[in-house]
Amino acid sequence: MEIYLDANATTPVLPQAQAAALFAMASAFGNPSSTHGAGLKARALIEAVRSTARRLLGVSDGRVVFTSGATEGIHSAVLSVLHEVRVRRDAGEPIPHTVLYGATEHKAVPEALRHWNLLFGLGLRLLPIPVGRNGKHDLGWLADHVSEAALVCTMAANNETGVVSDLDGIAKVLGRSGARWLVDGVQALGKIELQLSERRIDYMPFSGHKLYGPKGVGMLYVSEGAPFTPLLTGGGQEEAQRGGTENVPGIAALGVVLDALESGDVFMSRSILHQHRERLIGALRGAFPGIVFNAPFDGCLPTTLNFSMPGATSNELINLFDAVGIRVSSGSACSAALAEPSHVLRAMALPTWQAESAVRLSFGLADSTVMIEEACKRLDACGRALKAMKGVGTARVTNQLSAPETEQSLEMSSYAVRDALHRKPPPLVVDVREDAERKQQSVAELDAETVPLWALPQALSRWCTLPAETTVIFVCQTGRRSALAAQALRRQGHANAWSLAGGLTGWS
Ligand code: PLP
Repeated sequence: MEIYLDANATTPVLPQAQAAALFAMASAFGNPSSTHGAGLKARALIEAVRSTARRLLGVSDGRVVFTSGATEGIHSAVLSVLHEVRVRRDAGEPIPHTVLYGATEHKAVPEALRHWNLLFGLGLRLLPIPVGRNGKHDLGWLADHVSEAALVCTMAANNETGVVSDLDGIAKVLGRSGARWLVDGVQALGKIELQLSERRIDYMPFSGHKLYGPKGVGMLYVSEGAPFTPLLTGGGQEEAQRGGTENVPGIAALGVVLDALESGDVFMSRSILHQHRERLIGALRGAFPGIVFNAPFDGCLPTTLNFSMPGATSNELINLFDAVGIRVSSGSACSAALAEPSHVLRAMALPTWQAESAVRLSFGLADSTVMIEEACKRLDACGRALKAMKGVGTARVTNQLSAPETEQSLEMSSYAVRDALHRKPPPLVVDVREDAERKQQSVAELDAETVPLWALPQALSRWCTLPAETTVIFVCQTGRRSALAAQALRRQGHANAWSLAGGLTGWS
C-alpha cells in the first residue's frame, strides 16, 4: 500500500466528489448560460455550491467567483489592484509606490506581482515582508512600510512549513491604511477558522485539488467594494467577472468538499488531526534521533511537518521513504525539480544544512488513523535501514549524485545494460523496487534478483564475495535508489557495480 504523505502538494479526489463530477457530466451537462431546462439545472448546481461557499466562509456580501485554481485567483486579485493603481496614475492622482508580500509566499504571488507590474508599466517596488525564525511575518517591519503600499499579500498558512500567519495581528497593522489585502487561503481552508466577515481581507483565493477536489477548479472571494477587473472576458459568465463556460463537474465536486467541511462528518476532527501529528512526531523522533523540526509545532497547521536530519540530504531521505512506499517531498511541488534549497526556509534564516536537507511530510483531513499508524511503522523501518546503511558505510545520496562525475562512474545506459546481458559471465541484475512497484512494471527480460532498499545491508556482504569480474547492475524506477545501492556495493569493495541510468521508466 502506498502511504501518501504529500497532501500539501495535492490530494486524491474524495469518492463522493468524483461521483458528483460524474453526475454533473451525465445529468447536469447543460450549458449554465442556456435558459432551457438543461442549462437551468447546471446553473442551479453552480449557485448551490456558491451558497455553500458563502456560508462556509462566513460572508454575506462580496463575491465568490469560480476559477481554475488558486493561481488564477491570485492573478485576478493582483491584476485588479494594480489596474486600479494604473487608472489612478493615469488620472494624475497620487499613487502608492510599493507592494508588500510575505517572503514565504507561494511563488504564484511574487510571480503574479512581477507580471502585472511589468505589463502595466507601473514600476512599483515589490518588497518581501521578512519573517522571523518561527516563519511569522515581522509586524514591526510591516507597520513601517504599510503606508506606502497599494497591496499587501500574506498567505493564511504556509504550504512548506504549515506556519499559520497572525491574520489578526496583520489586520491590526493594516488598520485604516489604504492598502488592499490579499490572503492566500489555499492551505488554510478547513484547517483553521478564516472568519472572513470579521477581517478586512479583500481577496482570498482557494484551490480544489489541495482539499480532495479535482485539479482545475478553485474559487476567489472578493470583498464588497474591492476593485475587480476580469482576467478573462467572454460570454458574460460569472456575472461578467470571469468569461468562459463554467467547469460544472469541477464545481460540483468542489461543492461536495465544501458540504463535507460544513457538515463536519467526513473529515477528521481537529483533535484527531493533532493526535495524528503527535504519532508522526513520535515515530520520526524514534526513527531518526537527531531529527530537527524546522517550524514550531505551536501556531502551525497540525497536518504539516517540516524537518531535517543532520548528515542526510533531502534526496537521501526522500529516496529512503520512497523505498518503503511513503511519498513525501522536499517542499513545494512546483519547485520539486529544482535543486535549490527552499526560499521559505531560507527566509526563516535556517542554517544552510537544515534548508538543504528539509523534508515536508503533510497528511490530509481524510487520512485515517490506520493509515497514520502504518506510516509510523514504516518510518521505524526507514530509521533502521538508514542506520544500517550508514553503519556499512553506504555513501550518502547527495544532491550531487546526478553531477556528471558521479553519473559517469555509476550509471550504465540501457544500451550498455542490454549488451551486458548477452556477455559471459552474465551480470547479476538486482531490482531494488518495492513489491507494489514491481507489480506495476515487471521486466522479465532482466531476470533480476529482488532486494528492496531496506534489505540491502544484509545482501551487500553476499555480493561482496562475487568474483570481481561479475557485473552487478542495480535497477529501480527512476535510477536514484539504484545509484544508492551501486554506490554502497562499491564502497564495500566490489567496483563492478552499476546503476541503470534513468531507471526503468525509460526502459522499453
Ligand atoms: N498557494 C499555495 C499556498 C499553494 O500551496 C498552491 C499550490 O501549490 C498555490 C497557491 C497554487 O494553487 P493552484 O495549483 O490551484 O494554482
